[in-house]
Amino acid sequence: MTSPTASLREPARDTAVFGEYDVVVLGGGPAGLAAAAAAAALGRSVLLVERYGFLGGMGTAAGVTNFCGLHANVFGDIRQVVHGVADDLLARINRLGGLNPPHRVFGKIDAQAYDTAAFKCAADDLLLSRGVDLLFHALAAGVVMDDEWRIKALLVETKSGRRAVLAQVFIDCSGDGDLAAFAGAAFEKGDAHGGMLYPSMMFRLNGVDPDKAGEAWRTIPALMDEAAKRGVSFPRKGAIVRPQKHTNEWRVNVTQVRNADGRAIDATDMHEFSRGEIEGRKQALDFFAFLKHEASGFADAYIVDIPPQLGVRETRRITGRYQLTADDVVTCASFEDTIGVNGWPIEAHVAGDVAWRWQDIPGSRGFNHLPYRMLTPQASNQKVFDNLLVAGRCASMTHEGQSAARVSGGCFVMGEAAGTAAHLSLAGNTGCADIAVDKLQETLERSGAYLGRDA
Ligand SMILES: Cc1cc2nc3c(=O)[nH]c(=O)nc-3n(C[C@H](O)[C@H](O)[C@H](O)COP(=O)(O)OP(=O)(O)OC[C@H]3O[C@@H](n4cnc5c(N)ncnc54)[C@H](O)[C@@H]3O)c2cc1C
Repeated sequence: MTSPTASLREPARDTAVFGEYDVVVLGGGPAGLAAAAAAAALGRSVLLVERYGFLGGMGTAAGVTNFCGLHANVFGDIRQVVHGVADDLLARINRLGGLNPPHRVFGKIDAQAYDTAAFKCAADDLLLSRGVDLLFHALAAGVVMDDEWRIKALLVETKSGRRAVLAQVFIDCSGDGDLAAFAGAAFEKGDAHGGMLYPSMMFRLNGVDPDKAGEAWRTIPALMDEAAKRGVSFPRKGAIVRPQKHTNEWRVNVTQVRNADGRAIDATDMHEFSRGEIEGRKQALDFFAFLKHEASGFADAYIVDIPPQLGVRETRRITGRYQLTADDVVTCASFEDTIGVNGWPIEAHVAGDVAWRWQDIPGSRGFNHLPYRMLTPQASNQKVFDNLLVAGRCASMTHEGQSAARVSGGCFVMGEAAGTAAHLSLAGNTGCADIAVDKLQETLERSGAYLGRDA
């Protein structure tokens, strides 16, 4: 085998230009699709680059099938607080018959399940209706810089070969901060010891008897505790086993994928990510066998889907002018430069468990503002990039802050704000960090976004 330190110099080459756009968005998850939809609705030419052949990010590629963070518990009244592009997407998923009504979680907040096929098709529709160009099956592999602070082109690997995509503004919604890292942005990973949130391999079952299964999301964790006393081991506590739109189909969120030394798999490490896929599928099979034999209503169930990839909660968090913190989440912080709100609590996937930290419910307004500064990446000397924004789970948050605002609701908010900010930066001929924030807020509100300024 070749030594891992060996290297090979590739010959220099000319790269064909794919096209030139006002705005290029990397990644088609909740953040990326909202960013692209927002910028295109404001009249910008937009290309969205995605490595898979469909949109949705972890929501489809990792089989998440459930929106969290769309709602907040506002002094005891649970209501939807994320609107704008998210409303358009939800309506399209609903028209395809793929959206569940919201369900209550721990009696404190709502979440809303969906079918992955409907999400994929609705997202195509949404972006095409707003005039976004989509480039699927294109893996971003590098950037070409104009100077230290300005990106000229994104390099992508496709089945037709390597291509350069030119743009005036780039928005990194890759979840892993790939584009920002290529450009030299500073980033962090994990907690003080580098420990990241654990990834999970989701899976879905069909053939469940919903009457017999009942409120299995309550009874299954108790069955697991019983089995643990008999020596059965599970990857983690806190199984989430819940019905989808068609009640014989259920999603299972229970696996937890780690390295031999117990650390969470790092999905930006090719070896760990590759091993994690195999381990995730193995854990899915083991837990399915447990359900089939021990849980009422699951005897005739079968695995209908193990998704295309391991579900990744955290990798790089790009460092911007402000990092959203745990305190901001639990104290429902306000910011002058709010771009929208996060009502989800801290949901930390720690070793063997899920640790929750809530806002004061029902004693508070139940959400924090998300400040625009989270979207503006810095290099290690704190200088901001001219034409780069970052949105979604790789935006500027501490490890704990990210444990809350990484869910879909917060990612839609950040994406829509980034797409709108890209438009304003071009309209005003200013760097992305220097746009007029009041103008951003006005534009977002005019498009139907809720910024939480009234509460
Ligand atoms: C197991 C699991 C369960 C979860 N459960 C829930 C839940 O119930 N509800 C909820 O709301 N949230 C949940 N989440 C969190 C949520 O799904 C994600 O945090 C959210 O999808 C993040 O959105 P994003 O747009 O920032 O990134 P992502 O969804 O990660 O999307 C990033 C996109 O970029 C693409 N991409 C990445 N790198 C490249 C590259 N180099 N070139 C081209 N394309 C690239 C990816 O293919 C992907 O489509 C869960 C997450 C996991 C892992």
